[in-house]
Amino acid sequence: MDDKITKLQTLLGERVKKNVPLAPFTTFKIGGPADLYYEARTIEEFVEVVTKARELGIPVTILGGGSNVLIGDKGIRGLVVKNNTGAITIRGMKGKYQSGGSVGSVYVEVDSGVVFNKFVRFTVEEGLKGLEMHLGLPGSVGGAIFMNSKWTKAASKDATQGIVTENNRRRYLGTLPMPASYVGDAVYQATILTPENVVTAVDRSYFRFAYDTSVIQKTGDIVLRVVFVLTPGDKQALWEVANESVSYRRESQPQGVKSPGCTFRNITKAQAVATATPNHTTSAGFLVDHVGLKGKAVGDAQISPVHANFIVNNGHAKAIDVVQLIELARGKVKEQFGVNLEEEIVRLGEL
Ligand SMILES: Cc1cc2nc3c(=O)[nH]c(=O)nc-3n(C[C@H](O)[C@H](O)[C@H](O)COP(=O)(O)OP(=O)(O)OC[C@H]3O[C@@H](n4cnc5c(N)ncnc54)[C@H](O)[C@@H]3O)c2cc1C
Repeated sequence: MDDKITKLQTLLGERVKKNVPLAPFTTFKIGGPADLYYEARTIEEFVEVVTKARELGIPVTILGGGSNVLIGDKGIRGLVVKNNTGAITIRGMKGKYQSGGSVGSVYVEVDSGVVFNKFVRFTVEEGLKGLEMHLGLPGSVGGAIFMNSKWTKAASKDATQGIVTENNRRRYLGTLPMPASYVGDAVYQATILTPENVVTAVDRSYFRFAYDTSVIQKTGDIVLRVVFVLTPGDKQALWEVANESVSYRRESQPQGVKSPGCTFRNITKAQAVATATPNHTTSAGFLVDHVGLKGKAVGDAQISPVHANFIVNNGHAKAIDVVQLIELARGKVKEQFGVNLEEEIVRLGEL
């Protein structure tokens, strides 16, 4: 491996760094070092570093905002590419753009490394409708495509408690969409780098977006750029929805904590009915809460006392502590409700 590292450094220069701790690049602040680390600032650099590393037989891992990952304590072998690409461009319009109206479509192209929040702010400021409810979603555009990240009531306090009353809905949601809205809904096209190092354009259907899922979780494609299709809207009304969404997050999710968001995926309605969960709830947080694990800690890792589907790092938690909590929750939920919980967070590297 040392030989390959030297070769990659010869090809790409000193920006390829050795033995870089990864915890600071994640919202969980957990994880060991990358053998090799490179920050790509443009799509050209991104493609070049991935291609050259693969040609040398060095495994490549992509890190966006690091807001949905659990990196192992021993770190990641091979090269980690931190995606810091950052361009946003309005590509064109179709139909008539009438002020205040919603006629026609506007196509906006964005590099996959752009912070999703920054992109949402851009679209809202431009009076473009389609992503405003996602204000407050951490991470990058590429990570949001990989996960098909969502706005959903299932991430809410009410859902954790299994109750979404009409009053709560009005209080929290106002004009927000119910029950869910996915980032993939607004995708028109994307440019990807395939595992064979081919750069190609694909349309929305390629991704087979579903709950917490896109096909690239299986194919290993890397998202380089995305074109979103949005519609003209009233800027003030869009800001209202965006700000309401942020307030709702503040009310329903633990704040100021080190965490990668929800640990487990919610279950399907069919699973909830089949296993007869209380009130047929689909909420993973509700199930973890009801097996008595809210607040349970292993080392500095703790199942959040605020939201049972969040695990928080209260100081110097290790990945191994988090895994113990995950297995404990999974085991108890299986035992009591007969439900197999699947992880939403992505594990990277060696434990
Ligand atoms: C406080 C908090 C709240 C959250 N709320 C929500 C929420 O409401 N809804 C929701 O869905 N999620 C939520 N999340 C989870 C997370 O923010 C999203 O899943 C986010 O979209 C992940 O993006 P990221 O750039 O941080 O991905 P990362 O964590 O960096 O990576 C996640 C996975 O995507 C892959 N990946 C990243 N970029 C690319 C790329 N360009 N091409 C190919 N693969 C790539 C990585 O290799 C990794 O496997 C929350 C997280 C936190 C910490």
